Amino acid sequence: MEDRCPQCAELLQWDGGYVCHSCEQHYHKQVYCPSCHRPLEKLQACGSVSYFCNTCNELKSKSAVNTVFTASDHEA
Ligand SMILES: [Zn+2]
Ligand SMILES: [Zn+2]
Repeated sequence: MEDRCPQCAELLQWDGGYVCHSCEQHYHKQVYCPSCHRPLEKLQACGSVSYFCNTCNELKSKSAVNTVFTASDHEA
């Protein structure tokens, strides 16, 4: 899955955080459970990333989760 700007759909760049150069806006990435829409806990093992939902009490595959980029005004 590609990481795209929620405003202009350009690919986001990485400069220590997600950034869209067209919008001159930084973003935070938040991942939500596709079933209960709660924020997911990120698990990293052996170089692969998966997500765990504490509400559903099950592992969610990276391709199934909902990814939301929220604008950040606090980026250094
Ligand atoms: Zn943009
Ligand atoms: Zn869930």
